[in-house]
Amino acid sequence: MAEAVRSDLVSRLRIVRPLCPDHRTGTHPKAVSDRAVWSCTPEAHASEPVC
Ligand SMILES: [Zn+2]
Repeated sequence: MAEAVRSDLVSRLRIVRPLCPDHRTGTHPKAVSDRAVWSCTPEAHASEPVC
C-alpha cells in the first residue's frame, strides 16, 4: 500500500518537472530566497520559479 502511494508520487513528480529551456536538461526543485525554483542541474542556475 505505502509502496504504491510512493511510486505514484514519484511518477507525478517526474511528469511535473520541466526541462531547462536553455539546456534541455532535467531540473530539480530548490528553495532560493524563500521561493521555490526549478534548478538546472549541470549549470546550477534557476531556470524558472515553481508556481
Ligand atoms: Zn539550464
